[in-house]
Amino acid sequence: MAPSGSEPWHSVSEAVALERFDSTARGLAPDEAARRLTAHGRNELPTAPGRSAIRRLLAQFHHLLIYVLLGAAVITAALGHLIDTGVILAVVLANAIIGFIQEGRAEQAMDAIRQMLAPKCTVLRGGERVSIDSALVVPGDIVLLEAGEKVPADLRLVTANGLRLEEAILTGESVPVDKGTRPVAAEASIGDRSSMAFSGTLVAAGAGRGLVVATGAATEIGRISGMLAQVQTLTTPLVRQMDRFARWLTVFILLIAASLLVYGYFVGHEDFAGLFMIVVGLSVAAIPEGLPAVLTITLAVGVQAMARRNAIVRRLPAIETLGSVSVICTDKTGTLTRNEMMAATLASASHTYSVAGNGYAPEGSIRLADAEVDPAEHDLLDAFARAAALCNDAALRNDERGWTVEGDPMEGALKALAGKITGHGPNAFAEWTRVDTIPFDAAHRYMASLDRDPGGRTWIHVKGAPERILAMCSTERRPGAGVEPLDTDYWIQRVEEIAAEGQRVIGFAVKAAPDGHAKLDPSDLEGQMTFIGLVGLIDPPRPEAVAAVAECHGAGIRVKMITGDHAGTAAAIARHIGLRNPNEVLTGTDLDRLDDAELAAAIVEADVFARTSPEHKLRLVTALQSHGLVVAMTGDGVNDAPALKRADAGIAMGQKGSEAAKEAAEIVLADDNFASIAAAVREGRTVYDNIKKVISWTLPTNAGEAMTIIVALLAGMALPVTAVQILWVNLVTAVTLGIALAFEPTEENTMRRPPRRREEPLLTGELIWHVVLVSGLFLAAVFGVYAYAVDKGYVPELARTMAVNTLVVLEIFHLFFIRNIYGASLTWKAAKGTPVVWACVLAVTAAQFLFTYLPPLQQVFGTRAVPLLDGLIIVAVGATFFAVIEAEKQMRLAFRGGAPTPQPPHAAFAGTGERSTPR
Ligand code: ADP
Ligand code: MG
Repeated sequence: MAPSGSEPWHSVSEAVALERFDSTARGLAPDEAARRLTAHGRNELPTAPGRSAIRRLLAQFHHLLIYVLLGAAVITAALGHLIDTGVILAVVLANAIIGFIQEGRAEQAMDAIRQMLAPKCTVLRGGERVSIDSALVVPGDIVLLEAGEKVPADLRLVTANGLRLEEAILTGESVPVDKGTRPVAAEASIGDRSSMAFSGTLVAAGAGRGLVVATGAATEIGRISGMLAQVQTLTTPLVRQMDRFARWLTVFILLIAASLLVYGYFVGHEDFAGLFMIVVGLSVAAIPEGLPAVLTITLAVGVQAMARRNAIVRRLPAIETLGSVSVICTDKTGTLTRNEMMAATLASASHTYSVAGNGYAPEGSIRLADAEVDPAEHDLLDAFARAAALCNDAALRNDERGWTVEGDPMEGALKALAGKITGHGPNAFAEWTRVDTIPFDAAHRYMASLDRDPGGRTWIHVKGAPERILAMCSTERRPGAGVEPLDTDYWIQRVEEIAAEGQRVIGFAVKAAPDGHAKLDPSDLEGQMTFIGLVGLIDPPRPEAVAAVAECHGAGIRVKMITGDHAGTAAAIARHIGLRNPNEVLTGTDLDRLDDAELAAAIVEADVFARTSPEHKLRLVTALQSHGLVVAMTGDGVNDAPALKRADAGIAMGQKGSEAAKEAAEIVLADDNFASIAAAVREGRTVYDNIKKVISWTLPTNAGEAMTIIVALLAGMALPVTAVQILWVNLVTAVTLGIALAFEPTEENTMRRPPRRREEPLLTGELIWHVVLVSGLFLAAVFGVYAYAVDKGYVPELARTMAVNTLVVLEIFHLFFIRNIYGASLTWKAAKGTPVVWACVLAVTAAQFLFTYLPPLQQVFGTRAVPLLDGLIIVAVGATFFAVIEAEKQMRLAFRGGAPTPQPPHAAFAGTGERSTPR
């Protein structure tokens, strides 16, 4: 559909546009929308096709080590050592396959995330507001815009209330521009088309409605960007660092290997072919070629685990940050509480009523001291109901799930309250018409509406934070219809009482507007409103949030609540949820009084921040960070974006959060639930541990294998393990044991440790010591078993077979040791392992049996059947090795003054580094 002739949509009137699209202010009928979806296609930008599987597989061969190995394969083939050539090629192939699987995993993980982050929007269909996937928007739809929303398609605006859009994505201009409905000149440039809202831009303030005139690739953004390149590589700073490390290690080892080749040939006068194979074996043994791929798998597993726990990682480095979070600043409503509101208390100038009912059902009784309501007061209650129903943007719906809210749950609860008072169900006051509104904004904490009654008179209704509303009033309604001067002190006291019960308190006021008043301005509200009364709403705490807060405290993470709600309500909920210090509440006014230094001092012990506006969040994050704390911060509104960006881990709400908040955040919570934050931290710690485990297993194993060859070579001894045998061990263990640790579950005490320091290096002195110790023990064990076999008079082939099996057994025991770097490995639970670990161990064991006993493999690798007793001795050597390193670990732990027992809560707040990170 296009405007007739050359007239573009921004220069035709709304009415003409609506007519051309055969739409109305009530939106399309649902079946018409479905028809148009088939005709116009989904509202999505085409994505660039991914690389084909073949090209992805080929890309795996593009590595320095692989080129060297392919060169070695050619040389060995030229020398006629076809067995060696075959084994080298098998190693190359195994590597490519691991890399290929890793990429597949990573892509799957990212795909799942993309799906979970699909943007949503609100449209009118058949006059009802419905929330749908933005991809389902069709031309002719009426889209509702609110602050923080992302415009889902190109819209011709039909209403606009203080609507301002941030169009940087299209125009590069970061200052929001004012929008209206008046047509503009046909030749206006994109930035001047104030009657349009373009797809992909953000609503910075205000509200409005727009008619969809273009979707998908037909939108302005679709024309500019054409394809949407969505590739995000699965990596983090840590993994990139390991990648660089592995690359330089490869160069380093290849140089050493080349030197050894030269030395052995010219000084040692060894046979070139044999020496060459040894050097190739050495390189393969020493280079952790699979490490980057395995680390990526570890990340992919972590991303998927977090997604399963409703935490969607938008920026991958956040996985690492999450593991070191030491403070979580969280919203109250909907995150710590369920955001399932119900009006429970109604306070007038003389009475306090209780409201009965069930969920959002608009039926139930209003009671006064256990009796039905006095009819004399009915007219006051009616004023309550009118303000509650009209100054309201939510809709109640009764479907198979029962009564549900479309829109803000609190407003849904107020709609239900109006139904209870009037007995007219969800449609009380449907015969009134809305003339204008001032939408709710967390910064001014009220909402106002201008409504026309069936008799043609207009009224202004406001609702919001009681202090705000009281400040607008000079009079108050008295039961029985009278109007008297406002008694502010009385109301403030009532607010405190209701808030102390943990209820959210909302004040209501009304004023008759002059005839013909059509535009609502904040100045209309100042000073002359009539206060109606208060409504207290209950919003029960989430039981799982109570447990999650306790878990965070145990993990040395302080939880702080930041809310726009009243101090009394906030403190009551904080007590319920189990925050450390619920009684010392700092309000937004308090925060404004403190300078940055005072704030930094005050913030450590205070856990509850009430009546804050979004700007305060930014100051709070900065103040916490000045203590060196790693801060996670939640947010939902458009004004929360700066704080989310500033926080170390910005967490946006997936359900009630605006697109602006989601875009600023690193993590999006699919269920808005605090418990999911705790789960994400747990997964973040697990991923970091697993990365550490993969590295702690790989480096010593490689060093041990390499040392065996180097020592034999330099000492001029017979090799206890031949080059092809080393290649075999690498081949078998790299695809099994090397990957097993990526799938390790969370260790038992993961959430009983203090957070990791942000700057803690990965390659610690401890890890280096571990590499030295383990490679030394490997060396001793392999040479020891070899010497034992030679001593017994075994042929060299059998002695070597035993040495190779020793190496593999040591690697298996080492794996079990590494699985529990933070606790004792010698527990039943630890020994039981996981299915992945056992599958890998069984696979390696089976491979070793074939290697040792299967005649064709004996031929290829020069092995001999190992006698049973000697097999048992090898296992015993492995067990001894395990006992030695485990005892060494316990020794170190004991020396440091204790096993990894639970830390005192808030070790992170103790300031100095008296933390321990036992491995
Ligand atoms: P929270 O941090 O609990 O989400 P908000 O910033 O949403 O708090 O709200 C702060 C205060 O603004 C509330 O305590 C209430 O008084 C008022 N308020 C919230 N939502 C609305 C609304 N839709 N209309 C009017 N007032 C509101
Ligand atoms: Mg809120």
